[in-house]
Amino acid sequence: MQDQPRLALNDGRTIPQVGFGLWQVPVDRTAHVVREGLAMGYRLIDGAAIYGNEAGLGEGLRTATVPRDQVFVTTKVWNDRQGRDEARRAVEESLKRIGVDRVDLMLIHWPCPDKGLYLETWKTLIDLRDEGRVTSIGVSNFHVPHLERIIGETGVVPVLNQIELHPRLQQAALRAFHARHGIVTQSWTPLGQGRSFDAAPIRAAAERTGKSAAQVILRWHVQLGCSVIPRSSREAGLAENLDLFDFALTEEEMAAISTLDIGERTGPDPERFS
Ligand code: NAD
Repeated sequence: MQDQPRLALNDGRTIPQVGFGLWQVPVDRTAHVVREGLAMGYRLIDGAAIYGNEAGLGEGLRTATVPRDQVFVTTKVWNDRQGRDEARRAVEESLKRIGVDRVDLMLIHWPCPDKGLYLETWKTLIDLRDEGRVTSIGVSNFHVPHLERIIGETGVVPVLNQIELHPRLQQAALRAFHARHGIVTQSWTPLGQGRSFDAAPIRAAAERTGKSAAQVILRWHVQLGCSVIPRSSREAGLAENLDLFDFALTEEEMAAISTLDIGERTGPDPERFS
C-alpha cells in the first residue's frame, strides 16, 4: 500500500495530507467506515463532537487492524462549549467518548465572534496541549482578524485552520495568510457538493487523466498544498478519494481551475454563525 504524503505542522509534528471526514456519517455506520478507511490506507480521520459519532470513531479505532499510533485523529470543540472551563470539560468529554488518552489535533469548530469566547477557548486548548491531553491544537472557520487576535494575545500559532474550500470558494487571501504564518490549510467540503463537477476545466482535466471529476478536484487541493478531508460513507467513494497520487494536474489545468472561483459558500459565514 502506497504511503500517504504528510504535511509539516508548525509544532514539529506532521499530518497526513488526505483524510476523510465523519460529518453526517450515520452513528451505526461510523465504526465500520473508520475501519474500512484505515484498511484502505487512510491515516487521518476528521471528527467533531457535534457530528454525534465520536463513540463510533473510537470503536472503529479500537477494532481496526492499524495501530492507534499510526492514525491521526482530529476532533473539535462545538460552539456552545466555548469558554475557559466549558471548553476543558468539552475536550475531556470528547476524549472519553472516543475512548483515548489524547487526540492528535483539537480544533475550535467556529470562532462565533458574537460570543466573544474564542480567545479564552484558545487559551484552554494551549493549557490542554501543555498538559498532554491533546497533541496539536488548531482552529476551524477562523478569518484573518480572528487568527491575528489569538496569535497576538498568546503568541501561539494554530497548526492548522480547517476552512470551507473548493473550486467555487478558493480562499486565496486566507491561504496566503496561512502560508506566511506556517498554518496548514485544511479544506472542508472539498468537493463543493459536486457543483463544479461539470465545469469545463474539471471535465477537461478528468478526460486527459482518465480520473473522475472528484479526483481532479481533490488533486487540485493536494497541489495547492492543502490537507483535504472529503467525506464518503460508500466504500467505492473512500477508495476513489484516496487514489490521487499517480497523476498530476498541469500548471495550465491549475490555472484554468482557479478561474472557477466565485466566492460561493455552501456553508455558513463564519462572521455570523454561532
Ligand atoms: P464533501 O465535499 O466531501 O462532499 C461530500 C458529498 O460528496 C457526499 O454527498 C459524498 O457522498 C459525495 N462524494 C464523496 N466522494 C465522492 C466521489 N468520489 N464522487 C462523487 N461524490 C462523492 O463534503 P463534506 O462532507 O461537506 O465535507 C467533508 C468533511 O469536512 C466532513 O465530513 C467534515 O469532517 C468536514 N467539515 C467540516 C466543517 C467545519 O465547519 N469545520 C464543515 C463541514 C464539513
